[in-house]
Amino acid sequence: MKKILVILYICFFNLSIAQSKTFYADGSRFDKKVALTFDDGPGKATEKILEILQEKKVKATFFMLGISVASNPDLAKAILSEGHEIANHTYGHVNFYSYENEDKSLKMEQEILKAEDIIKNTLGVKTFLVRFPNGYAREDAISTSKKLGYYVINWSFGTDWKDILASQMYLKYKKAITSGAIFLMHDLFKNEKVISFLGDFIDDIKNEGYEIVTISELLDIKGPNVK
Ligand SMILES: [Zn+2]
Repeated sequence: MKKILVILYICFFNLSIAQSKTFYADGSRFDKKVALTFDDGPGKATEKILEILQEKKVKATFFMLGISVASNPDLAKAILSEGHEIANHTYGHVNFYSYENEDKSLKMEQEILKAEDIIKNTLGVKTFLVRFPNGYAREDAISTSKKLGYYVINWSFGTDWKDILASQMYLKYKKAITSGAIFLMHDLFKNEKVISFLGDFIDDIKNEGYEIVTISELLDIKGPNVK
């Protein structure tokens, strides 16, 4: 019985590695590295977040909405010029869980490519990292992304949109520090709670012996998804 369980475990473990080529929600459980990610911006919290990241000498990954880059091009440029990683969060934050039209895959493709164009035209960079709104990562999202050379990146922990006290939020983020963690936060809205503890949270991560890296460093992604 024990042997069967071990074999089953190995099969599932390998299966999850095979599937992880396009989709990731965390990095290696064996490296003391984590990544900070900020979604939906650039927006109201971007400037403050950039100040904190600069003060702590940390690089993060910003999953930008095409529509936010178009309305805040200077903030997008500031993110890039401070050495952070730029990633695609689609154009207009369509929730594909509730999108039921027949052209769903085509719509996903259009949303990715529209954001890609705006990012390219504004910042001159091409990213291979996409995160769908609401973490949508069903098979159609994976295959559409792969076709376009993208990796789909979700997160291992995030709770900054919930109606809880900043102190409780901070503790929850702190408790989720672990090897390979991908933390989700947002910079579109004012996000005073995250701004109030981000500096301390970064110190906690470092004090626990972890390195903070970008998503492509965490997952060792060097180019388009052509595997
Ligand atoms: Zn979002």
